[in-house]
Amino acid sequence: MNQKTICPHCKTGFELAFEKFDTTVSCPNCTGKFNPMKELTNAAWERTKTPEFQAEFEARVVKPNQGTTSFMFPIIGLVFCILLGVMLKAQGIAALLWVPIGFAFGFIVTDLMVLPLMLGLPRAIRLVSARQMRAAVFGRIILTPLIWLVLLAIVTFLVGWFLPTAADSLYNNAALNLSANLGMLAIILSPLSKKCRADFRASFDKSYHRFYTGSDESRSP
Ligand SMILES: [Zn+2]
Repeated sequence: MNQKTICPHCKTGFELAFEKFDTTVSCPNCTGKFNPMKELTNAAWERTKTPEFQAEFEARVVKPNQGTTSFMFPIIGLVFCILLGVMLKAQGIAALLWVPIGFAFGFIVTDLMVLPLMLGLPRAIRLVSARQMRAAVFGRIILTPLIWLVLLAIVTFLVGWFLPTAADSLYNNAALNLSANLGMLAIILSPLSKKCRADFRASFDKSYHRFYTGSDESRSP
C-alpha cells in the first residue's frame, strides 16, 4: 500500500511505501529530508489556525450548539484529535485504525447499556410513582442492557478462550482502550445537552408507549 506525501521543501507530491511513512525520507525531486508523518500532523494542526477552518468550526460546531449546554462535543472532538496525535506518535499508523474503533466501541456499548439505565430509570420511577406508568416498565428497561451485557460477556469469554494472544494484544492496546474510555465519556456526558435529553425522552415515549396507564394527555412532558 502506498501513501501520498508532499515534500515541504519543494512542494512536489510523490508516493512512498506505507511502512516508510513514519521515517525520515528524502525527496526524489530536491533530495531534501523530512518525516511524512510529522508533515501530516503539522499540516493538520496548521489548518486549524486558518480563517477558513475557524469559520467552518464556527458554522458547524459553535452555531448549532448555541443555547444548549452541549459544549462538551467540541471538547470531546478536541480530545479525540489530541489522543489520535499522541497515539500516532506512540503506536505508529495503526492508531488511525484503533482510535476510531475504540471510540465507536465505547460509544455504542455505553449508549446501549448505560444510557437507558442512567436516563430511563429516573424517568420511569417518576412516572410510576405518579401512577402514569405501570411498574412492568422497569423489567423492560433493564432487559435490553442486560441482554447486551450478557452478549458482551460471552464474546469477551470466547475471544479470551479461543484467541488468547489476540485478547492479550487488544487488552494491552493503549490506543484502543483510551479511545474506548473517551467514547464512553462522550455518552455519559451527553445528558448535559438539552437536545440529547429531548431526544431520549422522545425515544423513551416511543419505546415504552404501551406501559403508559392513561391517555396521551396524562403524559408528563
Ligand atoms: Zn523536495
